[in-house]
Amino acid sequence: MTVLAPDHREEPYWWMAAPPMPEAEAAPVPPVATADVAIIGGGITGMVAAIHLARGGADVIVADAGLIGGGAARMNAGFLGRTLKRSVAWLEKNVGADQAIGVYRELDEALQGVATFVEAEGIACHRQTCGRLISANSLPHLRYLLKDLEHMKRRLGLDYEVVSKADMSSELASDRYVGGAVIPDLGSIHPGLYHAGLVARAKAAGVRLFPMTAVTGIEPDIRGKILHSARGRISARQVIVATNGYTPRGLKWFARRLVPFHGYVMATEILPSALIDKVLPKRRTYLDTKMSIDFIRPAPDSERILFGGMTGRLNGTCAEIAPALHRRMVEIMPDLAGVRISRTWTGYCAGTFDFMPHIGAHDGVHYALGYNFAGVPIGTLFGRKLAARILGSGDGNSAFDVENFPTLPFFNGTGLVAPLAMKYFDLQDRRMARGK
Ligand SMILES: Cc1cc2nc3c(=O)[nH]c(=O)nc-3n(C[C@H](O)[C@H](O)[C@H](O)COP(=O)(O)OP(=O)(O)OC[C@H]3O[C@@H](n4cnc5c(N)ncnc54)[C@H](O)[C@@H]3O)c2cc1C
Repeated sequence: MTVLAPDHREEPYWWMAAPPMPEAEAAPVPPVATADVAIIGGGITGMVAAIHLARGGADVIVADAGLIGGGAARMNAGFLGRTLKRSVAWLEKNVGADQAIGVYRELDEALQGVATFVEAEGIACHRQTCGRLISANSLPHLRYLLKDLEHMKRRLGLDYEVVSKADMSSELASDRYVGGAVIPDLGSIHPGLYHAGLVARAKAAGVRLFPMTAVTGIEPDIRGKILHSARGRISARQVIVATNGYTPRGLKWFARRLVPFHGYVMATEILPSALIDKVLPKRRTYLDTKMSIDFIRPAPDSERILFGGMTGRLNGTCAEIAPALHRRMVEIMPDLAGVRISRTWTGYCAGTFDFMPHIGAHDGVHYALGYNFAGVPIGTLFGRKLAARILGSGDGNSAFDVENFPTLPFFNGTGLVAPLAMKYFDLQDRRMARGK
């Protein structure tokens, strides 16, 4: 059986409801443009910053290398969480209790902030508090998960519910897991509609959007900075770099600190509701305890299941990748064996060498980067914080603004680091499964 449905396309499922903005709808790009603030990258961070800046009185240009809405902002899985690869306990031990609590409080602020922002702006994007099931791949994984969640509960008051192996079938039709936990206040969103809502509000606030304008370099200038692109120059008093996993090598200092990872997601054909109810009875978001996660969710606007995983390991076109993802999906949820795939897509996210997101300024250029797969809430928060820093009003402070944004000698943003990191994650997963 081919796993591809007759309507299969190599593009994000989210584009069915929210395709990227056609270039013709954008402002014409002049050979020389001036603005108070130029933002490089029109994803979530860039667009949220633009909205707040323009409403605060700034003249703003957002330049994007592709179409507005063509990047990870409308390709991600739409999980809303407050998860980092570093636990509270790890941070307490390595960077101190105050910083650990500050980081996790800010992650919670980011999660709550999406809900507040979406509601205040009236963006119709299926944001919901559906809860998240984290399924444990082994008993040592389960012990670590529960210890971590209990620690978070004691330190931060964040709640969770244990799911025993016997109760797992009431959450997920899979026999691969030994138990898990539900975090009830985590949520989901339709990332395409969310980003489309941001773009509409940015345009209404007077932001000029320059699609297909890849910035190749930033230089000092009498007014502040000059941005160079093949389409012309932009002169601005302030600049924001918001390019996350797409940061080009030309933006050298930034690219040297970010490891781009390919993430893969697919959406099934339309399924009978009863099948989804059997496989995902509570229609939450789902992931596992491995460093290299598999993730599952129902679509919020049609009867489909979205599945992602195998980050950074596949090669080829999406049509070639789909069978590997499909096999993995069926290994986890055998009830989906005969189900075909309507959409497969891939986008870039950015890892960092300390596994932490970063916000700050380098050589007078503001940045918010390195979201390690959790950029929908953090990008929304950091976009607001960047605007507050530039406008000099509101709360621009962040626990993620730390002096050291690490890199490695000779690392230039490409090469073998991503595959090596995935091998390291596998090793860690196997070690933990053995209880080490
Ligand atoms: C497959 C996948 C699944 C994910 N799932 C989730 C999830 O469930 N939940 C979650 O919170 N996060 C998830 N993420 C991560 C999330 O999508 C990102 O962290 C988030 O989009 C980051 O937002 P951003 O605005 O900073 O950057 P992006 O949305 O990546 O936007 C960066 C933009 O910069 C532009 N750009 C790059 N270079 C230049 C240049 N030189 N000049 C001009 N523009 C440039 C790009 O074209 C792009 O549009 C996922 C990511 C992927 C790839």
